Amino acid sequence: MKFEEIRALDEQYVMHSYSRFPVAVDHGKGATLWDTEGREYIDFTAGIGVCSLGYADEGWQQAIARQAAKLGHISNLFYTEPYALVAQKLCTRTGLSNAMFANSGAEANEAMIKLARKYSYDRYGKGRGTILTLRNSFHGRTITTLSATGQDKFHDYFFPFTEGFRYAGANDISSLEEVAGHDVCAVMMELVQGEGGVLPLDVKYVQAVASLCARRDWLLLVDEVQSGVGRTGTLFAFQQYGIRPDVVSFAKGIAGGLPFGGVLAGEKCRDVFAPGTHGTTFGGNPVSAAAACYVLDRMDGGFLEQVKEKGAYIRRAVEEMGLPCLGETRGLGMMLGVDVTGERSNRELASILIEKGLLVLTAGAGLRLLPPLVITREEIDKGLAILKAALS
Ligand SMILES: *Cc1c(COP(=O)(O)O)cnc(C)c1O
Repeated sequence: MKFEEIRALDEQYVMHSYSRFPVAVDHGKGATLWDTEGREYIDFTAGIGVCSLGYADEGWQQAIARQAAKLGHISNLFYTEPYALVAQKLCTRTGLSNAMFANSGAEANEAMIKLARKYSYDRYGKGRGTILTLRNSFHGRTITTLSATGQDKFHDYFFPFTEGFRYAGANDISSLEEVAGHDVCAVMMELVQGEGGVLPLDVKYVQAVASLCARRDWLLLVDEVQSGVGRTGTLFAFQQYGIRPDVVSFAKGIAGGLPFGGVLAGEKCRDVFAPGTHGTTFGGNPVSAAAACYVLDRMDGGFLEQVKEKGAYIRRAVEEMGLPCLGETRGLGMMLGVDVTGERSNRELASILIEKGLLVLTAGAGLRLLPPLVITREEIDKGLAILKAALS
């Protein structure tokens, strides 16, 4: 089908909850995509940080095809090999000790919130279910994860929202102490606020939060749905912060494009989810789990080192262009934010770039770049040339 036919069907039969860009993506290879009209794009989005190995990676295809040919799904009442293996790989590479799986970031965060509340209930009883989160955060689109999200614009329409969240300013330990109280069981945060504008938290602040949590037996919950699985140049961003969270959530990049997510917890949370207390029909699906095993195996030390190098290269190149509409760059690894400074909004700049053949994302008031982690130097240079020509 051609773009106009697809758009007509979408207009008529799909709920209009997205304002889409006028492109129907058809297929891809590496970090290059083609639309239904045969136009080529360099991809600086990876979905939204999902396609960590780019498009149509051969090993990834084979891992999925092999598992699909054997067993596409079975309930969590039975064991499967990919499920056990992906849990082992995640634990051995993070120093955490047990995992639970889900299908998306919001669901993983729901599990993390439930785990924190039950941990506290088991030890202290009722009345200690409040979770402190940060302003400008993003934790998902379910009613509870919207509540957890510390941005007013996400607290509209869908009343009543879930109770039990209070918000503190990021990078401000006294703000956290101000909203503390005897009803608190946990602090939940992203280490690099993604949707909020790609804002990395300060290392000193994060370490101070970790020790405050340890002193008060609050769980430290780290939302690595966007920053996890190689995106920042280490398997998880917390590994660059010198902390060990009690629970970490992940999703987006873990299975290279299939829906998968989950939480990893330390030893002290091992027995919180006793049989029957939490569950999921699809979470831990063997095909997604096999894809996740393959993704994790590809992300060895050399791979992660290259993520750091490529991220630094992109940042330097964007800064050296000195374009009047772009300001400072920020980020960790290949999770990059660029300030937008001129007359035109970030959405307008993104539209121009997409029209010229470079896919980018927005976040906060800036641009956000989350290229597939396997992007080649040649693809990066092509993308940067489009950026320069389109915005000069
Ligand atoms: C994307 C995102 C989520 C939500 O993930 P979904 O898979 O869309 O539910 C949660 N937290 C963070 C930090 C995210 O970036």
